[in-house]
Amino acid sequence: MKQILYFLVACCILSSTAHSQVTAIRAGRLVDPDSGSVLTDQIILIRGAKIEKVGKGIDIPAGATTVDLGMMTVLPGLIDCHTHLADGVHDPEPVNRARKLPAQIALESVPNARAMLESGFTTVRDVGAYRALTDVALRDAINRGDIPGPRMFVAGAYLTITGGAGAMTGLAPDVTLPWDLRYGIADSPWEVRKVVRQLAHDGVDHIKLLSSGAVLTHSSNPNSREFTPEELQAAVDEAKSFGLRVEAHAHSPEGIKNAIRAGVASVEHATQIDDEGIALAKHHGTYLDMDIYDEECIQEEGKTGSMPKDFLEHDAQLGQIQRENFRKAVAAGVKMSFGTDAGVCPYGTSGKQFAFMVKYGMTPMQAIQAATSNAADLLGHSTEIGSIKPGKYADIIAVAGDPLANVALLEDVKFVMKDGRIYKH
Ligand SMILES: [Zn+2]
Repeated sequence: MKQILYFLVACCILSSTAHSQVTAIRAGRLVDPDSGSVLTDQIILIRGAKIEKVGKGIDIPAGATTVDLGMMTVLPGLIDCHTHLADGVHDPEPVNRARKLPAQIALESVPNARAMLESGFTTVRDVGAYRALTDVALRDAINRGDIPGPRMFVAGAYLTITGGAGAMTGLAPDVTLPWDLRYGIADSPWEVRKVVRQLAHDGVDHIKLLSSGAVLTHSSNPNSREFTPEELQAAVDEAKSFGLRVEAHAHSPEGIKNAIRAGVASVEHATQIDDEGIALAKHHGTYLDMDIYDEECIQEEGKTGSMPKDFLEHDAQLGQIQRENFRKAVAAGVKMSFGTDAGVCPYGTSGKQFAFMVKYGMTPMQAIQAATSNAADLLGHSTEIGSIKPGKYADIIAVAGDPLANVALLEDVKFVMKDGRIYKH
């Protein structure tokens, strides 16, 4: 007993020392997405997990650890608003998740989280796992410090209609799925409310629903409408009462507009958004979270034969349509966030989307804002993350050179700090 007490005391002293640890970063250039400007010769003072001061010529306290990034461009940690980190090893065939136990899949997901963090993404909004709640387990393991990974905000499961875009389809009709592979199925406003209540109870951070068919789901039609307006409104209303926001997967024009009218925080993919949809998104302040890079990976995987044939048929032409609609939405001034559908492309390569966002109409600063200040706003955590400001978490990255001249530099992040702790230098 005495030994345990000594251990506990030592533990607390160690952790309080770590907590009050002061680090000073010298930043040659510092990108501030809040003002859309770049500051020079800044010092960032970090105490424990949080940023204490930022400015020119700040006194560095004695005993502080100094990190010299004077030759680099320093940015807030990047945020990917559409990831699937908790689906285990990359596998384009969803049915294969029924060949493994959820515990296996959760453990397979540990390297996904590490790859994401080491590539400069210190936060993700993870928008669903096939095996329900593996994402909750992954988030909690990261928060405890058991494994390295980004700050995760998780959905727990997919809220979907029977046989819908988020359901485990492609099996014979007489196969009974385990509870965690049918957790989010709902057919009526009251069933929708019940699933939202269950998810809220199980500790999720937001609600992911699917309001149109999907590309990467068997027997699905991306042009269809899934969930009626009544069901979508029930989801948003019920989620709101638990303080949760809703994001809607939608490819079809009708699915997109129904979701926006119901009051979702963001539309995922928004592939075939039409002019009315763009006007609605602008009017409602809805974010579009458009994964315009992953088309490259879907087509590449098509050539190797590992991507199911029906998925490639769904995908034909949609990629280019989405990119042109992204350009229209940016030009119209719709709120845009950064989401890649990480898991479709390999974990750790989300940075490749920045160059595509610039190619399709954004300035490099707009692309950076999509993945920092805008993303934090979409998550409802602007006071904690999204820029390098006093009081926020010390989530800080750096690249060699000027990402505003060459945004592709964000594919090769050299320095990563999360919660004041350095993970890559
Ligand atoms: Zn997705």
